[in-house]
Amino acid sequence: MSSARDLPDEFDFEQVPETDQSFENALANARDGKRLTVADGIELITTGTDVEGIDSVRKEQVLEIADRRRAEEVGDEVTFVANLNNNVTTACNTGCLFCNFKDTAHAFEADSDVEHPGFTKTPAESREVVEDALDRGIYEVCSVSGLHPAFALNEEHHEILASYDDPESEVNYKPPEVYATDPGTYVEQMAAMSVGDVHLHSMTPEEAYHARRGTDWDYESVYRELADAGLDSAPGTAAEILVDEVRDVICPGKIRTDDWVAAMEGAMAAGLDTTATIMYGHVENAAHRVQHLQVVRDLQDRTGGITEFVPLSFIHENTPLYKHGVVDDGASDAEDELMIAVSRLFLDNIDHIQASWVKAGDARGLKLLNCGADDFMGTILSEEITKRAGGEYGEYRSFADYVDMITAIGRTPVERSTDYRQRRRIDPDDPPFGPELGPRADGTPLISDPGGDRTDAAHADD
Ligand code: SF4
Repeated sequence: MSSARDLPDEFDFEQVPETDQSFENALANARDGKRLTVADGIELITTGTDVEGIDSVRKEQVLEIADRRRAEEVGDEVTFVANLNNNVTTACNTGCLFCNFKDTAHAFEADSDVEHPGFTKTPAESREVVEDALDRGIYEVCSVSGLHPAFALNEEHHEILASYDDPESEVNYKPPEVYATDPGTYVEQMAAMSVGDVHLHSMTPEEAYHARRGTDWDYESVYRELADAGLDSAPGTAAEILVDEVRDVICPGKIRTDDWVAAMEGAMAAGLDTTATIMYGHVENAAHRVQHLQVVRDLQDRTGGITEFVPLSFIHENTPLYKHGVVDDGASDAEDELMIAVSRLFLDNIDHIQASWVKAGDARGLKLLNCGADDFMGTILSEEITKRAGGEYGEYRSFADYVDMITAIGRTPVERSTDYRQRRRIDPDDPPFGPELGPRADGTPLISDPGGDRTDAAHADD
């Protein structure tokens, strides 16, 4: 377990995986369908705090109960969505230690001669990428970006930010004319990407914070303006671990737990569905993971607007945490399986738990579908952040890949909408396989040559 990792002394966390509960009682509570306590969750995710490391027999007991719970709650369907990631910019000064997606924003300035692999798209360029993908048949565009200092919600926000005495240090702002490429405003980007009836999934809590920095605007009004421009739902990434003593280590420049929760509540008050994530397997311990689940479950109790929970296993290669020797690996396979299983058991108010092939690869991703998960992400025409962080499984999955993989484990492949309200069971005996739910989808495979024309889409943040 990561709880047993040899971390530097400064990460001597107050919260540790110690409980008064026993593994056997926690397992019985899970088996009986009782709402789990944090102590139950810690016992299950550690396979008992009375044993060192993970006990393989106990682990299988937890996985079996979680898989059964999945079958009872959502049946044997495995869903996925036809989607594109179109991220606007990699410029970001936030400096999260788990992230290798960003490039220091200074490098993007018009007079900079710093070589960098990053990009910024204008609204027109974003629109072009979405237009092309929409023609191919996507249902959803997901857009998560770096916190570019020239990004503002709208023109009024630009004026407010520019009125500070020292905008750069006080509100992380520089005007667009400083940069080689102007990303436009958030409202302009939303309007540009909201092509036809495509579902636009964008504006994480961290981005929403950036879109109101230096103002007294509340999150709900910010999300309402974005929704008016075309935003349909918000990804609850930027969650990492929702325990501040962990955030202080891995992302001290990011919003705190309370702000993440406030932003999510604002999005849902504005009428948007959301998703929620956890990024685990770095410096946190098992207690932090389960406390994170508690924050998400409480939020869902109050709002009911979280459509899915997405456990993201930390990819350590090429990240500052790894390069600086803070961590030397990520979560083990057993930890990944238990994270999915305990998410299914603990989050009794969220229907869908996602397994990721981007982070885990196909075989591991399929295994996770037997540990409590029922969703298998989206086609993602490209996945830049994972590639740049050292992951090997970025890129794209065709509908044919999905049908092959999901039927191989005896489950039913189902194309879904972002919010899961539209679902289409796919007949594995009726190829070719392509999307049908997107506004321009007609069943034609998304791309004819998976090795050929891929967009420069990416997935930022988490
Ligand atoms: S995780 Fe997001 S906010 Fe943090 S450095 Fe990366 S792009 Fe910036």
